Amino acid sequence: MRKKVLIIIVILLLATTLFSLFFFLNKEDDKSISDLLMEEGYSDNEVSLILDKVAEEDYEDVLNLGYDKSLLGILSASGYDESKFNNYIEYYVKNKDANINDIITIINSRYDLDNYPASALLADLVKEKYYINDNVARYLDYGNSHDIGAKKIISLVNSKADLGFYSESYDSVLDDNNLILVNKFYHLKEDYMPSDLVSLGGQYNRGANSRMRKDAAEAFMKMVDAAKLDNIILYNMSAFRSYDYQDNLYNRYIKRDGKEAADKYSARPGYSEHQTGLCSDLNVIDDSFDGTDEANWLRDNAYKYGFILRFPKGKEDITGYKYEAWHYRYVGIEAAKIIYEDDITLEEYYAYYIEKISD
Ligand SMILES: [Zn+2]
Repeated sequence: MRKKVLIIIVILLLATTLFSLFFFLNKEDDKSISDLLMEEGYSDNEVSLILDKVAEEDYEDVLNLGYDKSLLGILSASGYDESKFNNYIEYYVKNKDANINDIITIINSRYDLDNYPASALLADLVKEKYYINDNVARYLDYGNSHDIGAKKIISLVNSKADLGFYSESYDSVLDDNNLILVNKFYHLKEDYMPSDLVSLGGQYNRGANSRMRKDAAEAFMKMVDAAKLDNIILYNMSAFRSYDYQDNLYNRYIKRDGKEAADKYSARPGYSEHQTGLCSDLNVIDDSFDGTDEANWLRDNAYKYGFILRFPKGKEDITGYKYEAWHYRYVGIEAAKIIYEDDITLEEYYAYYIEKISD
């Protein structure tokens, strides 16, 4: 009996000693990193912050920095993510004068931007929905010489407007179907003509150019029918126009107003969206249409039928055209909804949803 008690006592003693030793050793470890940090000049609170926010394997990096107020800023920033500690520090060391929150935002974005100097502009850019990483150099270039804010920079660069209208020319991609882009960069060949044009008749048309592509025409008629229920009478005045038609029209405008003026309101042949068979000029083809009940109804409802106001007010520098209250383009309901809700142009939609290859 006595022997048993003795054994239990010995076991208990041993366990207590081992536990104390373990605890003591651990504490010793903690104490030494704390001591080292304090030797660098960190206060008790700052040491706690570091131990709390930095993984053990990164303590060495902290010690290498020496006392650094910005390090504390990084650790207390709201977007701080412990797993990115090394990325923050590497980027911070290259950008010592940059704002800490900008550094955090740039590194937290899923883009690889280590080689770009940290700046408020770059941080603002990566926060934008339509940011495209392939365009970042052009964003920064344009943004550094134009004080217009990240959103506008992205709109202009994504739509290529920063390059200057008609400065580059690409063939429109016909496979994009309802989303074929035709503007001052993308153009159609002289002989391009959609194969599924149908004529709008009766109440739906009052113009000489009455043809649209089949899907667009069907959507157009649905839209006109819906408008009628709201006592709004809509009709097409000009839909599909051939290359030759546009060629004549444009040259007539040049004779009348000169090339520079003509380019602001008329498309060069091949560069007119009317050649796609996907758009319509409705009711009244001049500025007097703006503000009418018909124009307002279209502005608020056309997207439900897959149509967008193609050349909106305030977007002239993106589309390259002055505001046209009467020109509606069929893009399909899905794209129209995004374009309407996000208040973007087809140029911006195309760059982000169709053309963007990778992040
Ligand atoms: Zn038009």
